[in-house]
Amino acid sequence: MISKLLRVLVFLAVASCVYAQPGTMRLDYFHTGNSTQEIFSVDRIVLEPLPWPGNPAKLLDDTNLGAYFFEVRDKADGRLLYSRGFSSIFGEWVTTDEAKTVNRTFSESLRFPAPSAPVKIILKKRDEGNFREVWSTTLDPKDKFIDTSRPPPPGTLLVIQKNGDPTTKVDLLILGDGYTAAERSKFEQDARRFTEILFAAPPFREQRQKFNVWGLCPAAEESGVSRPSGGVHHRPPLGTTYDTFDTDRYILTTDNRSMRDVASFAPYEFIEILVNGKTYGGGGIFNLYATVAADSEWSSYVFVHEFGHHFAGLADEYYTSQVAYAPASRRIEPWEPNVTALLDPANLKWKDLVTRGTPIPTPWRKQDFENYGRAIQEQRRQIREHNRPESEMDALFREERKKEDELLAADKYSRNVGAFEGANYEAHGYYRPQENCIMVTRHDSFCAVCRRAIERIIAMYASE
Ligand SMILES: [Zn+2]
Repeated sequence: MISKLLRVLVFLAVASCVYAQPGTMRLDYFHTGNSTQEIFSVDRIVLEPLPWPGNPAKLLDDTNLGAYFFEVRDKADGRLLYSRGFSSIFGEWVTTDEAKTVNRTFSESLRFPAPSAPVKIILKKRDEGNFREVWSTTLDPKDKFIDTSRPPPPGTLLVIQKNGDPTTKVDLLILGDGYTAAERSKFEQDARRFTEILFAAPPFREQRQKFNVWGLCPAAEESGVSRPSGGVHHRPPLGTTYDTFDTDRYILTTDNRSMRDVASFAPYEFIEILVNGKTYGGGGIFNLYATVAADSEWSSYVFVHEFGHHFAGLADEYYTSQVAYAPASRRIEPWEPNVTALLDPANLKWKDLVTRGTPIPTPWRKQDFENYGRAIQEQRRQIREHNRPESEMDALFREERKKEDELLAADKYSRNVGAFEGANYEAHGYYRPQENCIMVTRHDSFCAVCRRAIERIIAMYASE
């Protein structure tokens, strides 16, 4: 009798292992260092409340994108179970001048299907174009320290668009930060508004059916987020703030632990954080998250542009703007799909999309564009320095967009795919695929190369 019961129990246990969707495991770790040194240490291992939302047929990442890359391998036989490329706030900070003089620590996370046996997790960093192992750790799913507790719930999960089971769709989670409980309905309206903006932009428009969109918005005590350059300090639940790396418009959060705990209540692969604010701003990091201030006049453009960074690892194709990065001392081919150092013009990475008869590199009115850009930068600096109203900045940006759209549409090769010098924050040595794109100016659409890069990511998560 007892042995029969035991057999039934064993059968049930085996059946549940074989058929159940795996859980979602998350390794939170600390990434510490400076411009010459990096140190990694485990913070905690968490079993998230929801099952793994990813596509079981697409566990391995062969896109070669990101500044970092991680692998989960079976500890016993070394079999590769899961891999993903990603970028990080540390990876951006380490290129700033500050990283030459001080250390900083950032919290980061790796999420993967919960394994059934011990695994080795290997973290790699891109070095001269290729990934090189910088850290590894092992994980036993039976470890008593794996935290299976539910974090404090962030409120009702908003179903904005559900087209199918999360394992067969790209799951986009829209998080709200700086919205009070009384502003919950504003968050819901904002989340739906930005969903429509995203799916108005090709190629998202044509592939809308491949996406689910979810919303979560933990209530903030106070409305808005921090903007130190304006003397504003708040403690919103996700920790987002303007002035990241002392760049006024750059909105990020470094409170990864809190953000991950909130996000774990939705199935997700990509995160957009809507910041309840009017001042122009946003940010986007590949495979981490993107942010946008929901109520600036330019929020549609900022949202789509920054989402391009987050979703497809697109590089900035602009170069006249003031940014926090120091110039690269020696040029190597960037990993981003939409910029090139053109070290080997015959093997341009988007050569199959180049318009026939287009010279490489491709001539364009570069000097006119740069002269105009410099004048705008100066006016922009003046507006910020004298703390002028945001409406003046908006008016300047309107004028700039109109002029740049005209300037970049009037050349012989304006409609072609080629290789136009000036991209990736540098006036020389880096090239972009088309003269205009939402990654260059406040133009309204992605160029052909950016569109294809986005389509490749959609195909990594959605079933046909
Ligand atoms: Zn582009």
